[in-house]
Amino acid sequence: MESGGGSTTAQRVVLSVLVPVYNEIDVLPEFHRRLTAVLGACVPAYEVMYVNDGSTDGSLAWLEALCDRDPAVALVDLSRNFGKEIAMAAGLDHVVGEAVVVIDADLQDPPEVIPRLLEQWHAGYDNVFARRRRREGETWLKKASAAWFYKLIGRLSRVDIPRDTGDFRLLSRRAVQALRQLREQHRFMKGLFAWIGYPSIAVEYDRDPRMAGQTKFNYWKLWNFAIEGITSFTIAPLKMATYFGLAVALVAFVAIVAIIVKTVLFGDPVKGYPSLMSVVLFLGGIQLLALGALGEYIGRMFNETKGRPLYFTKQVIPSHRGHG
Ligand code: UDP
Ligand code: MG
Repeated sequence: MESGGGSTTAQRVVLSVLVPVYNEIDVLPEFHRRLTAVLGACVPAYEVMYVNDGSTDGSLAWLEALCDRDPAVALVDLSRNFGKEIAMAAGLDHVVGEAVVVIDADLQDPPEVIPRLLEQWHAGYDNVFARRRRREGETWLKKASAAWFYKLIGRLSRVDIPRDTGDFRLLSRRAVQALRQLREQHRFMKGLFAWIGYPSIAVEYDRDPRMAGQTKFNYWKLWNFAIEGITSFTIAPLKMATYFGLAVALVAFVAIVAIIVKTVLFGDPVKGYPSLMSVVLFLGGIQLLALGALGEYIGRMFNETKGRPLYFTKQVIPSHRGHG
């Protein structure tokens, strides 16, 4: 490992704890104290990898000093603020542990849950995600919008994204190796965690309110995050034109038939209007349909450009016949 963390590579690192940090100086000392208290009691050899995501407060200096003090601490310092999703990707590229726990620095994800995550990992699960039982200190609106978002994306996407889970989770070695292969720019991590597959299980916990400092996510950011999730994970919006266009074209077609029948039977008192209207509607419908067809192709291109591996295998058992 090249980063200057001085982590204990001589010993096999069992657990890496990955912490994205953006302006968290108010909570870092308390966070690190609580985290190491838990880890010291439950894992023989661990590393704590902090990813400094372009903090502008004293976080970086504090972390650098911590690296000198504590040989189990590693630091990845990003060149600017890239956002939590990229910070996590950077961390996953550098961790060395047999398992990795991703945890927020603000103590909303209590480190005391980690032993329970480890238990399920020992039981053979690759993706042990922590599920919030209650959300303290969050507004009614935030809870409602979160619930609505999970429902929507659950409908639209083919992989099951577990609700009420954040990024707080444990990943096995092979799950981390799978995630490392997903190099897309628009990273909707909750979706990616689910997309790689592998046996997963939930561990329930009570989410605490943020200990100090401010949340880095306001409603505008959350809204963009939701759009990011939907557009980077599904091509449903592209398909909307197809169905809408089909509906309009069908209605227009029925109207045209009705107008012809009516004109033949009763004559045409307001000359031109009904036929004009149905032709306009019909053409509009056909145009939307064509846009939808274009959307289908663009959607396929979009999926291809992500360059994801086609699949991951859990194991491959070869036949015992002689090799040719
Ligand atoms: N974070 C980050 N980069 C960012 C924003 C946040 O690394 O651009 C980190 C932050 O330091 C914290 C975690 O991501 O450890 C979660 O952030 P926050 O608590 O602000 O989000 P919330 O819990 O409100 O969703
Ligand atoms: Mg938080």
